[in-house]
Amino acid sequence: MKHIFPTYKQYPMEIVSGHDWHLTDENGKQYLDFTSGIGVCSFGYSNDWIEQSVLNQLGKVWHTSNLYPSALQDEVAKMLCPQGMLAFFCNSGTEANEAAFKLARKYTGKAKILAFNDGFHGRTYGSMSLTGNPNIQSGFAPLVPGIDFADYNDSSAVDQITSDYAAVILEVIQGEGGVNSGHGDWLHAISKKCHDQGVLLIIDEVQTGIGRTGTQFAYEHFDMDPDIITCAKALGNGLPIGAMLGKQQLAEAFGPGSHGTTFGGNKIALSSAKAVLQQLTPDFLQMVASKSQAVFHQIDQTIADLPIVTKISGLGLMIGIHLDSKVKVADVIAKLQEQGMLTLPAEHNTLRLLPPLVMSQADLLKGIDVIASVLKTASVKVETLA
Ligand SMILES: *Cc1c(COP(=O)(O)O)cnc(C)c1O
Repeated sequence: MKHIFPTYKQYPMEIVSGHDWHLTDENGKQYLDFTSGIGVCSFGYSNDWIEQSVLNQLGKVWHTSNLYPSALQDEVAKMLCPQGMLAFFCNSGTEANEAAFKLARKYTGKAKILAFNDGFHGRTYGSMSLTGNPNIQSGFAPLVPGIDFADYNDSSAVDQITSDYAAVILEVIQGEGGVNSGHGDWLHAISKKCHDQGVLLIIDEVQTGIGRTGTQFAYEHFDMDPDIITCAKALGNGLPIGAMLGKQQLAEAFGPGSHGTTFGGNKIALSSAKAVLQQLTPDFLQMVASKSQAVFHQIDQTIADLPIVTKISGLGLMIGIHLDSKVKVADVIAKLQEQGMLTLPAEHNTLRLLPPLVMSQADLLKGIDVIASVLKTASVKVETLA
C-alpha cells in the first residue's frame, strides 16, 4: 500500500471474494465473517435480491442530481422513516450526523449540543467534534465550539439537559466506544428530559440501525421519542449511503438552499437500500432476535465465566465481549484470523461481533465455539503466567 495514506493499521491479508457470510483472501484461505465490513453487509456477500435491484438500476440511469425529483428516493424514505418523519439522503454516517447537527442548530436557533464520552459519530469536523474520544480529536483543534460531554449512563447527564441546548446526540448502544449498552431507564429519562426542555433528541443509529439489534432501529427497544435519527452503515449493504430522518416540523429549517449534497440519494445507492429494506420484514427481524437469543445463551454457557472475560454486552447481533487488560484484543483477533474467523475490536479492549444478519444459527454458534476455545487458551496462558 505504497500509494495510500496510512490512516488504517491493516491486517495482513486482502479479502478478494465472498459468498453468503463467508470471505476468501488472496491465498484462498476462507473465513467465517463476524464483521459484516464493520456492520455494513448485513445481507452478506451474495444476496440475489439486492444484486438484481442494483443491476436493474445500473441499466437505466446512475445519477441525476437532486435538482430533479426521484420516485425511488421517496419510496425508500417511506420504507425507512418512522411515522411522521422525512428523510435526507447522503453518503455516509458522518454526513448524516453533520446534517442532524446543522438542522438542530438552524431549527432551534441555539448552538449548544450535549454528547457523550465514548460516543462515536464520525470523522468530519462536526461529527468528530461530537465524538467523545480524545484520541480521535487529537491534533485537529480547534474543533467545532458549543459541544459539551457527559458520561454515558450517568444520571447527572439528565440533570445537565436544560433549554439552553439545541440537541442531545447519543447512540443507544455505543459501538466503537466499546459496545456499551444504554440502560433503558436512563435512555428513557434522557428522552423525556429533552422533550420537557424543548431540546431535540438525535439518536445515532448508524451502527445499531437497519435490523442489527432485531428491530429496524435499536431505540425501538426502549421508551424513547427521537426527533432526529441518523443511519448509514447497513442501509446499502456495501454501497455508500446514509440518511438523516427527522420529524416533519423540522422541515421549515431545511428548505431549498439550506443543505445539500451532489451524490446523496443517487439512484445506484438507493436501489440497493430499497432491496435491503424490502427484506427487512417483521419475520426477518424476528429471526434475528431469535438467533440472537441462541447466541447470547451460548456465550453465557461458554464465554461469560472465563477468567479473562469481564463483561458481555450488546443486543441482537451486536455483541461485545469485554476482555481483562491481561490479554490484548488485537492478539485475540489475530488468533481468530488464524482459525478462519474475522472479528472486530472496540474501545476498552472489547472484542466486537457484528455478523451478517443472514448468518445461519449453526454458523453463528460455530463461531462462538471458536471464540470460546481461543479465549479459553488465552485464559490458561494468563493464569500460567500469574
Ligand atoms: C460508523 C459510525 C459513524 C460514521 O459513519 P461513516 O460512514 O464512517 O462516516 C457514525 N456513527 C456511528 C454510531 C458509527 O458507528
